[in-house]
Amino acid sequence: MGVDSFVDWLRDAAGVLHENAAYLTELDSAIGDADHGANMDRGFQAIVAVLDESSFDSADELLKKAGMTLVSKVGGASGPLYGTFFLRFGTALAGADLSAEAIGRALHAGVEGVLARGKAELGDKTMYDAWAPALEAYDAAVAGGSEVGPALTAAAEAAAKGRDATVPLVARKGRASYLGERSAGHQDPGATSTTLILESAARTLT
Ligand code: ADP
Ligand code: MG
Ligand code: MG
Repeated sequence: MGVDSFVDWLRDAAGVLHENAAYLTELDSAIGDADHGANMDRGFQAIVAVLDESSFDSADELLKKAGMTLVSKVGGASGPLYGTFFLRFGTALAGADLSAEAIGRALHAGVEGVLARGKAELGDKTMYDAWAPALEAYDAAVAGGSEVGPALTAAAEAAAKGRDATVPLVARKGRASYLGERSAGHQDPGATSTTLILESAARTLT
């Protein structure tokens, strides 16, 4: 695996987020301000524009640029959170081989960035409720001898379960928390986009 695989990931994720923009916005209209799909689509289309005009020698440069693009182009909570994820993910890959272990360390670094920025805890009904089980499943798969692709497939499946488990939760972070108990009964938009991004990774980072 090389830098091209990460380019494929970002392009595939941009396509999937574009296709799901209306769905993500509909989820956000129930417990937020109805912009999550538009935010993710705008951010990832800006990444595609960068990919169209520049080439990258290394995965870390590419992913750091993707992160900076999200931070600069996307307002709201998700821009800085996903931007920080990709910045830290890329930074952790600098000089690393792209083994399953190295990618696992980078995923952890990215998610630690999300936590440093957003201060979410498990069960707060945020994207972290998808990231946390995904990391656990990834680590378990790699410990069992899996390569990157199958480990990411396990991570994406765990993220989907975490996403589904956000439905009954009461939000304690972000705009949805303003609704208090009324946020229960709705799926978290950010946990949904995280699952889409990980499913895309499982298809492309092999
Ligand atoms: P905004 O709510 O500012 O309009 P978006 O709609 O783009 O931003 O993103 C909302 C998503 O961001 C939520 O569904 C949730 O998953 C995630 N989110 C919000 N605040 C936090 C936080 N503090 N930590 C982690 N994720 C968060
Ligand atoms: Mg929103
Ligand atoms: Mg907003």
